[in-house]
Amino acid sequence: MKIKDIELFQLEIPMERPFSTSLHTVKEAKNTVVRIVSDDDWVGWGEGSPTEVITGDSNASIRGYIENCLKPILLGEEPGNLEKITSLIQDSGAGNTNAKAAVEMAVYDLFGQQLGVPVYQFLGGYQNKLQTDMTVSVAGADEMEKDARRAVKAGFRTLKLKVGNDLLEDLERVETVRFSVGSEINIRLDANQGWQPKEAVKIIREMEELGLDLELVEQPVPAEDFAGLKYVKNNVLTPIMADESLFSPRDAIRLIKEDCCDLFNIKLMKSGGFSRALMINSVAEAAGIECMLGCMLESKIAITAAAQLAGARRNITRLDLDAPLLLAEDPIQGGISYQGPRIELPPAPGLGISGADNLEKIK
Ligand SMILES: [Mg+2]
Repeated sequence: MKIKDIELFQLEIPMERPFSTSLHTVKEAKNTVVRIVSDDDWVGWGEGSPTEVITGDSNASIRGYIENCLKPILLGEEPGNLEKITSLIQDSGAGNTNAKAAVEMAVYDLFGQQLGVPVYQFLGGYQNKLQTDMTVSVAGADEMEKDARRAVKAGFRTLKLKVGNDLLEDLERVETVRFSVGSEINIRLDANQGWQPKEAVKIIREMEELGLDLELVEQPVPAEDFAGLKYVKNNVLTPIMADESLFSPRDAIRLIKEDCCDLFNIKLMKSGGFSRALMINSVAEAAGIECMLGCMLESKIAITAAAQLAGARRNITRLDLDAPLLLAEDPIQGGISYQGPRIELPPAPGLGISGADNLEKIK
């Protein structure tokens, strides 16, 4: 099996409701879908979901990078030579993690189909049933409380509250939601870099004193402020998770060496795909750091890929793979299925994606 062609498509899906973090508001997911066709006419699927404020990628840059830098070096290569092919992808240039992730996904999908096994099995094979949290977009305390209650009613036991706008309001948001959903529900926070280190310590300690019982706080401080992250980690009891500070295996090693955090959030869109995500997870496991598998605003193609990775490895203990549930439509056939917070991996070989509607081919 050799790579014969790499095709690109635009995928646009409106959000069920506008999605806001401390960094931006999104009304529509606009992603690039990759379809790799082999010389024996197998098809592998991948997807890049650009978040300019975090990775610096855009749909235009994803397409340009795949068309100009990845396609020329991958045509004729065998998907089964994973070490060679992922080296070609990762060494093709700096950055462009969305483009690399999308293409790696399609390559692993093809290889899984060739082997006749689901991706989660050939990457490790730990479990095929998973549970995700539900993200509550940052808004006024009352609106967040309504969203939180809706999620709990739908069966979600873990909520991820987006905060990081304003200290007093953040405190009110978390207090309101905790009071409303009760002590049985697991609450994690994501400040998306919205606090300064001392502010973060102040507000997290206040939440601890109020007994708001947080599972973890994700990326309290700006991505590049490793010292600040460490300061927060060392001055609160609540576990601190690195997200925007962690892109590459090298970042993972630095975060571990400098003892900056308790937990990692791995995302395929940051790591540049499976190969580097697996490296990060292995480094983390060796250091005693558990990982969450997170997402941007991907459709079920890239979320299925992320779920396959999560099902492969024991050290991926938390999931934030709710993006398809935040989208107003689901144009993807096959892939994972949701039942409330429960995710089941498809038994089909590869990623298990069988097709997609509303794809607009890019010339
Ligand atoms: Mg995050």
